[in-house]
Amino acid sequence: MSDQEDKREVLVENPFHTARFKPVRKGKKPPKLIAVVHQSGCTGCEVCIAGCPVDSIELVPGPESANPAFRQTVEIDLARCIGCQNCSQDCPWETITMYQHNDSFVAWGHETLKSELYVSQESLDKVMSDANVELSPEAEQKEEA
Ligand code: SF4
Ligand code: SF4
Repeated sequence: MSDQEDKREVLVENPFHTARFKPVRKGKKPPKLIAVVHQSGCTGCEVCIAGCPVDSIELVPGPESANPAFRQTVEIDLARCIGCQNCSQDCPWETITMYQHNDSFVAWGHETLKSELYVSQESLDKVMSDANVELSPEAEQKEEA
């Protein structure tokens, strides 16, 4: 390992997102295909959300907290998508692509530019510090595993 500091951002699951209360994907094998939204082409129209059978598409609010619907977009939870392709067929702007499961994580990194489901460790630490909360020992063990 080099002495240079590794500047890559480490993303972690956001434990405070409401999606974490949704049921997990069933089955031992992941689907062959996973949907990834290229947010640069997403208008936030929400058409894809209505057709997702497992409710795995989440809204990402726009930059203005007073008007979060302005320039909103969506992201897809890779851990919950079952690869049905509804969203990629429904999107009027053709900005959702189905990727082979193993390719989807890299594509997500390039195309999901704003995420609420996965956040940097740094920003999660800040949120917890500001709110004066700590992860439970069980949650920390899960993170370390
Ligand atoms: S492929 Fe199907 S399950 Fe996956 S996000 Fe799209 S609509 Fe939902
Ligand atoms: S249907 Fe397409 S443009 Fe509309 S919110 Fe979904 S990904 Fe974005």
